[in-house]
Parts: sequence; C-alpha cells; structure tokens
Amino acid sequence: MVERAIGIDVGGTKIAAGVVDRDGRILRRVEQPTPTESRDEFLGVLDEIVDELRGDGIEAIGFGLPSTIDQRTGRVVGSVHVPLEDFDFRDHAAERFSVPVALDNDGNAACIAEWKIGAGRGSNHMVMLTLGTGIGGGLILDGKPYRGSVGAGAEIGHMVLEYGGEPCGGNCTGHGHFEQVSSGRAADRKAVELLGPGATGRELVGEARAGNEAALGAVREIGKRLGAALGSLVNVFNPEVIVIGGGFSQARDLFLEPALETMKVEALPPGRDLVRVVPALLGPDAGLVGAGFVGLEAA
Ligand SMILES: [Zn+2]
Repeated sequence: MVERAIGIDVGGTKIAAGVVDRDGRILRRVEQPTPTESRDEFLGVLDEIVDELRGDGIEAIGFGLPSTIDQRTGRVVGSVHVPLEDFDFRDHAAERFSVPVALDNDGNAACIAEWKIGAGRGSNHMVMLTLGTGIGGGLILDGKPYRGSVGAGAEIGHMVLEYGGEPCGGNCTGHGHFEQVSSGRAADRKAVELLGPGATGRELVGEARAGNEAALGAVREIGKRLGAALGSLVNVFNPEVIVIGGGFSQARDLFLEPALETMKVEALPPGRDLVRVVPALLGPDAGLVGAGFVGLEAA
C-alpha cells in the first residue's frame, strides 16, 4: 500500500504542495506563486514542484484545482483562474510524472480533508462550505465523496438563491447564485455601497465590529442569506454536519447567529434539529491535505 502522496493545491494566487501521509500529516512542503499568464509557464512550475518533492516512496500525485473537471477523461473543462481550460491535464501529468495521478476540484479536496481528519471526522453525511471570495463546497454522502455523473463534484456555490439576481460572470451564465449573495464578494459589494469606492469586505467586517450599525446590518444580512442556503442544504441532503471554512468565515461571530436562525426557519424537522454547523478545523491546509488524500485514492 502506498503510504505517501504528493498533494498539490492550486489556487488563483499560489500553489501549495506537500508530501502527505495516510494520517493527513504534511511531511514536507513547497509553495510557489501561480503563473496565470501562460499554460507552459504554469506546467513548468508544476515540474519544479514535483521535482523538489518526489523521492523514495512517492507513488502518486493528487491535485486540487479551481476548475471544473470531467473525470471520465481527466480533462479540465472550465478554469477561470488558472490557464488549464480545455486541457487533458490528467493525461499530461500521468505521462510527465510517471505515477498515478488524480484530480479533484478544490472544494471537494478541502471537503475530503475535513471529513477524514477535521471537523467532519466520523460522519457519513457531510456538507462542506468554503466561504472565500466565492464559495467552494463539497459533499460526503453515504460515507463517500460525492462527485456526480462526470465527477465534477457539487458546485454548491452556484445554487440559485435569488432568481434574476446579480450575474455570476466568468464561466457561469447564472444569476443570484449562492456565491454572489453570501460570500466575501457580497461583502465587498456591500462595502463599496456603504463605505465608498474601493472599500472591501474586510473593512466592512472591521466597521461592523467597531459598532457601525449599517455595516453590522449588512454582515448579518449576508448571514441570513447563508442561512437560507443552509436550510436548503439540510432539506436536500439531511447532513449530520455542515462544516464552514474559508477566509470569510473569520467573521462568523457576526453572521452565524442570523444564519442559524434563518436555517431553522427554512429547514424541516428533524434534519434542522439534528444537524451540527461547525467551523472547519484545518484552515488553509485543507486543500493541500485533501489533494494528498485524492492522490492516495488513485494509487
Ligand atoms: Zn454561478
């Protein structure tokens, strides 16, 4: 049995990679800025990272990508932040590195890590939400990661919460999606409205903590919308646990209470009374550890 894999978590600004063992420990790590200009440059940096980490006993590589993946072919179908769109990435990596390679989207990778060794440990039905600029997510159903018909996973951030609402943009033709109404991006938008041009969600949260009533009201409103999404997730999946991570979740002291109040209204019993909503435990390492687990699965 393979004991260690390289996990590579590709983000829009940095690539975090490491050697991950079966207990989810990171034995060695490397970090590089993400080249976003050209695919060749991006692939060159991946070569450097793998060269640096590979050694005795590394027999698999797992990637967490901010992309839509068709697992039937290992092709990256959509990828806004990194230059991998319309590329047979799994074939390329397997040939290049001569070991089993597996891909997953970053939301799923973080979900798998929190499920195996983090806040969702021991559960069979779990929802993971990563509240960042956008919203990533993943599902564990019946004790396994859920990936859907082509393996793209659950795009929870693109659930419609507001028909005809704010357009998503990028690859997404939709409107009023969860990540538009209840993420760092929603906080950024509200910050500009309340605090002026160039203001950020981080400043909005700072103002709310400092006693600015309008800012607090705006953050609580984002919380209510999050709660509406939690209610729908409880109704559809009846999870034991919902794990909430990501940078924007740092403001949960402000938004969690209105979120839970709204969830209790929108969700049906007994699911709403049984579900635990808990903070993620692994922080920014979740993606890297999860990518390692994905690699171990492939070996
Ligand atoms: Zn969308």
